[in-house]
Amino acid sequence: MGQRMDDALLQRLRQFQTEYFPRYREQFKNLVHHGQHPTTLFIGCSDSRLVPYLLTGAGPGELFIVRNVGALVPPADGLHGFHGTAAAIEFAVLNLNVQHIVVCGHSHCGAMKALYEELSPEATHLHSWLGLAREAALPVRMTEEALRRTEQRAVVLQLERLMGYPMVRRRVEQGRLFLHGWHYVIEDGEVHVFDVHHGRFVPASESAHSGTGPYKEFIEQPIFNEIDAAYLGALPSPHAADR
Ligand SMILES: [Zn+2]
Repeated sequence: MGQRMDDALLQRLRQFQTEYFPRYREQFKNLVHHGQHPTTLFIGCSDSRLVPYLLTGAGPGELFIVRNVGALVPPADGLHGFHGTAAAIEFAVLNLNVQHIVVCGHSHCGAMKALYEELSPEATHLHSWLGLAREAALPVRMTEEALRRTEQRAVVLQLERLMGYPMVRRRVEQGRLFLHGWHYVIEDGEVHVFDVHHGRFVPASESAHSGTGPYKEFIEQPIFNEIDAAYLGALPSPHAADR
C-alpha cells in the first residue's frame, strides 16, 4: 500500500513540474530574486477541506501559512517545549511585517468535536493542545448547532490570545496590523467573518469588511465571554447559569 501511495505522489510531483510550474515560472523566479513579501499570516486548521489558496484567491508569495489542529494559538508566555505556531507568529510579524493575521476555523471541525469526546490515552500531545480551545466548549449536549458555535467561539478565543503577543498588540495599537476571525462553512462555500463591533459572525456576502477590523477598542474589554451570552442564558442547563 505504501508503495502504491508513493507512486501516486511521485506522479503528482512530476506533473507539478511539467504542467503547473511552467505557467508560473517567472513569478517563482521573481519571488526567489526579490524574496517573499506576503502581507497576510494565515493561521488555519489542518483540515484537508480547508484550502486557503482557494478561499482567498491567493497565489505564490501571498500567504504565510501556519496550520495546526483546530487553528489554535498558544499563549505568548508560559510556553513549554517547541512551539511552531508561536514561532510563525513572531517571524511573520517581526521579519515579514505582515499587515493581516487571519485565524480561520471551519464547520465540522474534528478538533472542536473532540472537545466533547473521549480521546485515545495515547494522544497526549493532542489532549494538551486542545486545551487551547477548551474554554470555547459549551456546557451543553453536543449538537450541530453547538459545534458551529464552539468553532466560532474558538476563533475569537485565538484572536484574544494573539493580542498577548507583544509585537502583535503593539502593531494593532499602532494601526499597522489587523486581526481577522473567519469561520468557513464548507458546505456553503462561504466564510463568516467575525464582526467585533457586534460580537458575532457575519456571512462574507453581507459583511462590510473582511474581519474584526481594528481590534484596538476592545483591548481593555475582552469580548470572548460576551459572545453567546444570550444563547447560554436561555439554556436550561445548570452549568449555563454559572457562566
Ligand atoms: Zn478543523
